[in-house]
Amino acid sequence: MSARLVLLGPPGAGKGTQAARLAERLGVPAISTGDIFRANIKGGTELGRLAQEYSSRGALVPDEVTNAMVRDRLAADDTAEGFLLDGYPRNVAQVAELDAILADSGLALDRAVEITADPEVVTERLLKRAQIEGREDDTADVIRHRLDVYASETAPISDLYAQRGLLSQVDGIGGVDEVTERLLGAIGAPAS
Ligand code: ADP
Repeated sequence: MSARLVLLGPPGAGKGTQAARLAERLGVPAISTGDIFRANIKGGTELGRLAQEYSSRGALVPDEVTNAMVRDRLAADDTAEGFLLDGYPRNVAQVAELDAILADSGLALDRAVEITADPEVVTERLLKRAQIEGREDDTADVIRHRLDVYASETAPISDLYAQRGLLSQVDGIGGVDEVTERLLGAIGAPAS
């Protein structure tokens, strides 16, 4: 079974945690644009310097930068059987770009799975995470802005995937294992 998947959901919905677990179960790499940006920021690269300008205030990194980075990553051999994208696409233009990247190789997306969670719950989670991880963009003001950007730029892409019959929605409230099982069910992965 090929698994070319996109994981959607608001900041704090648990995408990163679940992406790692799903990728392991499905045998495909989890690709998080946020993680790639953070690694570049830490490594002091030019891409990192640019990404930080935007991510530190909760804004999206410009599409041409993000799109080129994703195109490059999806060209790697480990994506031959599939991938699980976390944090991309994040606006309608990125949806079109992902289509184009895949179409260039004669491929298409298999499914988009959205983890749903109440904004109040995710804000709580992010503020708690801030105390543990100290992420630069986990302050109350920046969290609020990230949730606004999600609502205006990212939430509309669920409708696009729904219109194509590709969207499954999964309740993100519950235990980590419970949510993983729901997601595997939505993807149609064989039970372990
Ligand atoms: P979260 O989902 O918790 O907000 P991520 O780790 O996915 O955080 O992303 C952190 C930051 O990286 C975003 O706020 C944004 O600045 C940048 N980023 C990540 N993915 C994208 C993307 N697809 N397009 C533009 N910017 C992105």
